[in-house]
Amino acid sequence: MAVGMAAKFVKESNWKSDPDSPEKLAVSGQVSNTQLLSQTWDVAVIGAGPAGTLVAGLAARKGLRVVLLEKEPWPRNKVCGCCLNGRGVGILQKAGVLEHLSQSERIALDRMELRVLWGRARFDLPEGLVISRPAMDGALVDWAIAGGVSFFPKTKAKPLGDGKPFSEPAGNAPLGNAHYKEQPEDGFIPVAWETPTEKGVLRAKVTVGSWGLIGPGRDQEAIWGQDVSPKSRIGAGTTLPGYVSELPEPGKLWMIAGVGGYVGLVRFANGTIDAAAALDAGYVRLAGGLAEATSRIVEKTDKGLAEACSKATWKGTPALTRNSKTPGSHRFFLLGDAVGYVEPFTGEGMTWALAGARSLAELLPRAVKHWDDTLVGEWARLHQISVSSRSGLCRTLSKLLRYPHLCAGLTAIASLCPPMGTRIARSLVRDP
Ligand SMILES: Cc1cc2nc3c(=O)[nH]c(=O)nc-3n(C[C@H](O)[C@H](O)[C@H](O)COP(=O)(O)OP(=O)(O)OC[C@H]3O[C@@H](n4cnc5c(N)ncnc54)[C@H](O)[C@@H]3O)c2cc1C
Repeated sequence: MAVGMAAKFVKESNWKSDPDSPEKLAVSGQVSNTQLLSQTWDVAVIGAGPAGTLVAGLAARKGLRVVLLEKEPWPRNKVCGCCLNGRGVGILQKAGVLEHLSQSERIALDRMELRVLWGRARFDLPEGLVISRPAMDGALVDWAIAGGVSFFPKTKAKPLGDGKPFSEPAGNAPLGNAHYKEQPEDGFIPVAWETPTEKGVLRAKVTVGSWGLIGPGRDQEAIWGQDVSPKSRIGAGTTLPGYVSELPEPGKLWMIAGVGGYVGLVRFANGTIDAAAALDAGYVRLAGGLAEATSRIVEKTDKGLAEACSKATWKGTPALTRNSKTPGSHRFFLLGDAVGYVEPFTGEGMTWALAGARSLAELLPRAVKHWDDTLVGEWARLHQISVSSRSGLCRTLSKLLRYPHLCAGLTAIASLCPPMGTRIARSLVRDP
């Protein structure tokens, strides 16, 4: 029986004392991925970003049987400014994730230079980290596996149905809500999964949708889709060669804002430069693409960076500012960017994802043991406390950036009083 690549991620540390555990049989070739996946799990987590992986690892450490499904080959990259603030670092440290990250993959971040048109200001930042997404998300997955999570990359998944109780699909019927009928004994939510070679349905007592900005498919939009702000900017990211400029200096974040958006630049530990941007879609169209738009924004600051931006291959994202219609439904919770997101000016997205995961992990043992639909309301309140209430400043700053001339003036004023910027930065990384 063929054992696909996914089973190799189920490490020995993950095997429970049972010699016939499905994970052990899968690695030894006695059961296929289809058999391994198509079981009943306590928790199925869809999407291995910081939100999904942290909640999976914490839940497994609480004794739950957890499967983590990721559609991309692993490790995957993602458009991101790659700045993890002090609050996020604290969450990873407390969970024991940093031990899985080598010193050579991270670099301390403690300064910021802000340029908005003619306005310039410098701030001290409370210490955070610059870290590439393959390194950070890879360390999180290693930590999750070490805690007992079964991880399946290249496995796309979606919860089936409309949030109501389900039974098995009839015969070989194609998957979809119409093929399920309600039954009185409801104890799980079915999740359809698909690898490049196999597909099937697994059952989970609780499922977590941590699939980021892009949902699991059009047919699910009406249930778990998001309301996107019509004025939202789009995201973009690339990696630039380190030799193109002396900027940004190691440990310093450069934020350069112009009429059509802003670009953040940091240097990785290996010397290359991460460039991430939030841009008006109209500005991108007029400029002739992401490369030209970002190049125009940075050209007054540094010609070498501008030229590198214009030659780079940029990856775009969908509109950034959005809110989900609901934080969950029957036996289902949304988490991370999938719940909602604001433009990344204050660089907190990963920390919001981690803080949300930490809160949800507290709820999961109860949800698995005895599901009660009021748990969705409880999760909405917890999410409000740990995440949404903290995104207000980010929303305000993002709106202000729509008026670059006003911002340039404010930046010039802020440069006369650097402790003010430092105080704002400190308030962003404080743990409640
Ligand atoms: C331009 C830009 C700059 C940013 N800069 C920063 C910054 O400097 N600092 C910071 O903290 N945050 C930053 N962010 C935000 C940060 O990247 C996100 O908030 C964070 O990654 C959210 O984590 P997540 O786990 O919710 O989602 P993600 O990290 O997006 O992970 C979701 C995962 O789910 C997988 N997936 C999706 N659909 C499926 C499916 N159907 N089945 C299986 N898997 C699926 C995806 O492949 C992905 O791996 C930035 C974002 C942008 C766009």
